[in-house]
Parts: sequence; C-alpha cells; structure tokens
Amino acid sequence: MARIQELSEILANQIAAGEVIERPASVVKELVENALDAGSTQIEILIEEAGLKKIKIIDNGEGIDPAEVLNAFKRHATSKIYSRDDLFRIRTLGFRGEALPSIASVSEITLETSTGDQKGTFVYLKGGQVIEERPSQARKGTILTVENLFFNTPARLKYVKTIQTELSNVSDIVNRMAISHPNVAFRLVHDGNQLLRTAGNGDLKQTLAGIYGVATAKKMRKIEKEDLDFRISGFISLPEVTRANRNYISIIINGRYIKNYLLNKAIIAGYRSKLMVGRFPLAVIEITADPLLMDVNVHPTKQEVRISKEKELMELIETAINDCLSNEQLIPEALGNLNFKNKIKQSAEQLEQTQLDFSSPTSVEEVKEPSTPLRPHYFSKPVNSLSAPFQEQAEKNSEQMNPNFEKREPMLNKPAFESPINTENSPVSDHQAPYLQMAEKMLATEKQADLSKGHLPLLDYIGQMHGTYLFAQHEDGLYILDQHAAQERIKYEYFRKKIGEVSTDRQELLVPILLDYPNNDAIKIKENQQALEEIGIFLEPFGQNSFLLRSHPVWFNHGEEEQIVKEMIDLLLEQGKVSVAKFREATAIMMSCKGSIKANHHLNDAEARMLLADLAKTENPYNCPHGRPVLIQFTNKDMERMFKRIQDPH
Ligand code: ADP
Ligand code: MG
Repeated sequence: MARIQELSEILANQIAAGEVIERPASVVKELVENALDAGSTQIEILIEEAGLKKIKIIDNGEGIDPAEVLNAFKRHATSKIYSRDDLFRIRTLGFRGEALPSIASVSEITLETSTGDQKGTFVYLKGGQVIEERPSQARKGTILTVENLFFNTPARLKYVKTIQTELSNVSDIVNRMAISHPNVAFRLVHDGNQLLRTAGNGDLKQTLAGIYGVATAKKMRKIEKEDLDFRISGFISLPEVTRANRNYISIIINGRYIKNYLLNKAIIAGYRSKLMVGRFPLAVIEITADPLLMDVNVHPTKQEVRISKEKELMELIETAINDCLSNEQLIPEALGNLNFKNKIKQSAEQLEQTQLDFSSPTSVEEVKEPSTPLRPHYFSKPVNSLSAPFQEQAEKNSEQMNPNFEKREPMLNKPAFESPINTENSPVSDHQAPYLQMAEKMLATEKQADLSKGHLPLLDYIGQMHGTYLFAQHEDGLYILDQHAAQERIKYEYFRKKIGEVSTDRQELLVPILLDYPNNDAIKIKENQQALEEIGIFLEPFGQNSFLLRSHPVWFNHGEEEQIVKEMIDLLLEQGKVSVAKFREATAIMMSCKGSIKANHHLNDAEARMLLADLAKTENPYNCPHGRPVLIQFTNKDMERMFKRIQDPH
C-alpha cells in the first residue's frame, strides 16, 4: 500500500468543493449567504451563461479587513464561530469556513472588499492560488467575481445541465433568498436581462408579488402563531391556488431556507381536505426559534436542519394554517367587488376544482361541437371508477372465462401499468398519476399492441347495470364494458388525433388568459415553447415572467381553457425538457381524464349505443389510457360451459 500522507490544501478544497459546490446555483447560494451574513441590505447578482462563465455578487455589507482577506480563503477559516459553544448558537448562515476556499479551488476569483474606514483590498486567485494582491479603493462592501467555474475539474462540468436548467436553478435559489430576506433588496441579472428585483422594504407580500406575480400574491393569506419555543409567520395560498409539486413551499428557519419533509407534511395537513390529491399550495413559513433548538451542522450545504421539538413545531404550523383557512371561509370574498375578468377567472378556477375531482356535471349542450364528428355528446359527464375488488374480479373472470382473449389482446388480462385506483369507491384519481410517466408507457405499449387484431365489432346493446357496466352482445358472445374506461379510451384517441393535427382552426378568447409564473418556471416554459407551439399553444410574452394566451386550438373544452393550458404547462414544468411526442401523448391522456361519465350514472339507450359505436371506431378498444380493461367477453362457448351445455374435455 502507498504511504499515508496529508492532502495538499488545494486538493482538500477541491474535494470539499465536490460536496458544497455542485453547480452555479450552489456558488450563488454560498456567496449570497456570505453577503447576508455581512449585514448587506443590497445584493446584486450578475451572471453570465447561467453562471458558468461569470458570477458577480456586489454587496454593501461590512467588508473584510485587509489583514484578514487571505484568511477567508483558508480552509475552515471563519469569522462566525470561535468555540464549540458557538456551534450550538449559530445565528449566521455560514460557519464552516468552507465555501470560499472550495469555490476558489475550482474557479478564478476576484475579490474587492473594504470595511469602508480604510483602504480596501483586491485579490485575484486561480485554482486556489493567490496570483495577485494589492490595495484598492475604499467603497464599503464586497464585490466577488467567480469566473470559469470548474475550469480545472472537467468531471464536474459533465454534470452541469443545459444553460436554461442551470439558470432556472440559480433563479430558484435567488427567489428563495429574497423570500427569506424581504428586508434586503435583491437584483438578479442574467446576460444583461433583469430577472428579479425586490424592494427590500421588509414587506414579504410585496416580495412574493415580485416573484409569483401580483394575482397569485393576492390569493395568499397571512399566518401567524407562536408557542413557548417557536414563532411562525408567513403566507399561504388559498386552496384554489395550487401547483403540481412542492417547489413552491419555502420553509425558513432563522433566515435560513431549509428542506424538511415533515414540516412540508404539516403544511399540507393544515389544509385538511381542502387540497386535491396531488396538488400542493404555495407557502412561505418563517420560523423563529432559539438557535439552541436546532442543529444546522448535519449537512455540508446546510439545507437540512435537525430540529428539537419538531413534533410541536409541526402541530403549530398545522393549526396556524387550519385556523387561517377556517377564518377565510367565514368571510367570503365580496363577489360584488370583482370585475368581469376576475369572475371569469374565478369560475374557471372553480371549474378546475370540480373537474379535477370528477364530480361536477357539465351541461351536455356546452360541449356539443358539430365540427368534431368523433366527439360524442356525453363527453363531459362525470365518471367514477370501478372499485378495485370489481376490477380484480373482472380481470380474473376474463382470464378464466376467455383464454382466447389473451391471444387477442395481451394487455387485457394484465393492466399495462399500475392502475391508480386503490381504494374502494374512490373517485378516479387519475390526476395524481404522472401523465408524463403514463405517456411514456403508452407510447411503448400502443406501439406493441397488435392493432391488426383490430376493431371491435359494433355491439348490440342489451342494458346497463348499476349505472356502471354496459352489457352488449354480438354473434360471438356476451360483452361487459366499463363505461368509464370505454369513454376514456374514446376520448383519448380523439384527443390524440386532434392534438396531432396541425390545424389552423383556432378559437379566439374573449378575455385573454394571463399566466403568471415565477422566473425560474418562466425560463423553463420559454425553453419548451416549441413543444407548446407544436400543439397549437402560442404564448405571448407579457412582461418578464408572464404570458398571454389569446386563442387556443378548437379541441379545448369550453370553460376549461385556463385549467387545460395550466395543466399542460405543469406537465412541462415537471420535467426539464420534454419531447413533442411525449408531450402530445401526456396531453391526450390528461384531456381524456377530464370530466368523464361517473359510475352510478345512468346512460339512456341512445347514449349507450353511441358509446358502443364510438368504441367500435377506436384503434385499441381494449384498454383505457391508464391500462385498465375496457371490456371483458364471455364467448358463446364460455356460456355453454358455464351452463353445462357442453362438458370440458378431461
Ligand atoms: P463561512 O461563511 O462559513 O464563515 P466562507 O468560506 O463562506 O465561510 O467565508 C469565509 C469568511 O470570509 C467569512 O467567515 C467572512 O468573514 C468572510 N466573508 C466572505 N464573504 C464575505 C462578504 N461578502 N462580506 C464580508 N465578509 C465576507
Ligand atoms: Mg459562507
């Protein structure tokens, strides 16, 4: 074995950099934290090429004394703690003394700093080596420039994603810093474009408006509560304003933005049943507590924190949110004050709520569209699911009773992928299932499915059972259909076709839809604009982070335009970059899930016959887009066997 020896300081720093500095956003985070620790009230972040080329942070903090400047780049050199005791009373964001030496070891750094009362200092380091040091001007504060990040660690560079993704990450971290410090004025500029500017006047709601848009901030409510150990305050969105993921929840403890699964859970729990499954609120929860109650030294990037009395804190958060929302219901918003556009928006949002839990019947007339022949008129009636035991039984039956079926359509006996239904009589929770994931599987399975086996014959309708199953016959036997699954299949194929058509048929909106997004999302949306345009969604940039939609493809359901386009954008935001094929597929599945016929819903004979006729036209009538079976068949032979008209050969 080789000799054991101490690592050189630079090598040790590069190793530490691997933990702390993963990407440009982590550099920005560390440098902004330093600026905040230095008591700055103004922080400017200027970046080029998402920070890979250059990150420049200008602050007006206390600066560094000339005698100390080089110490700042030494490993484990910090001005923030001196003793073991201090480690348990950390009030600053940094304390490990790792960031500057780590960043310096993988980039070129220029630092200009002054405490204001004497001459300042200029230093230039490359790969951790000091190349130049000299006195400089005496403006109080610090200007730190990081250039050519990872120039000497090519392995690191490989993990860096596209400029847009990295920029979105930088932007996200700056947003969170700004939210955690509403009393500091932040400015983020990328390649000369200003992405964020906050006033720094201490008004959190104003900061939120700057980040999430005024309309969204207006729908956020203040919360406040304390017990003996913790004081919490912040803003939470009304249950009607939700997002597809948890990214819009920010938890801040003593000014530090942290990630904490349990506290996230407490926030969701505070909404009780007001949130739809799979949807998440926007929330900023600021927690103030004695630093003794938390251990911030559990992770190098300090985003995870161990909290004593975590249970009590969870309870406090949950009740604060629940109280706030209960009050909200007692004082409903005065409808009279809302202007026309708000009313439209509101009803669209109400629609969003109801449509997604599949319980709101929409009027039949509303969706009738003569220009779209395949669209059956029962499209927008709500549907509930088969309960799981029924489904299992149905699958078993089809397996036992009809061995031929397996040959005909292999996906029938085995759902192509997990069914999202798991509780008896639960409403179809298709919305929770990630559409993009389903899309991927669908693209694969539909290709495999032997479509030459082809179309279902036009079945002769017999009757309906429990408002859920349709019975039908054909010369070869008896068919039992799940009306919900059948309808989803029809709709899915309809939308797949419509979405695939490049059509100039567009519907103008009376009132354009305004879509507000935080800048990190807006960046991702712009990156995916091509995919949107390929399916006929043309977003018009409207200010920095907003878009206007003035018209839409004709296949949008009337009254659901805003919800549909928002859900489509949610699909894009879930994944960095998505292929047009997958996006089309996911959109078709999403649309097929919207407002279908409920279980326990009576179809009249004409409606049922129409459903059978439409199903006969589908390419693959055997599975709904979630992979559940649409129908099972008892052949004449099966029937004869059951009634012992013929004997099984032994
Ligand atoms: P830590 O923040 O954990 O102390 P860093 O490596 O990030 O370690 O920074 C080292 C030291 O450099 C800090 O303790 C602080 O004294 C000084 N420093 C870094 N950035 C600034 C800044 N923008 N303004 C004033 N002092 C700074
Ligand atoms: Mg630091």
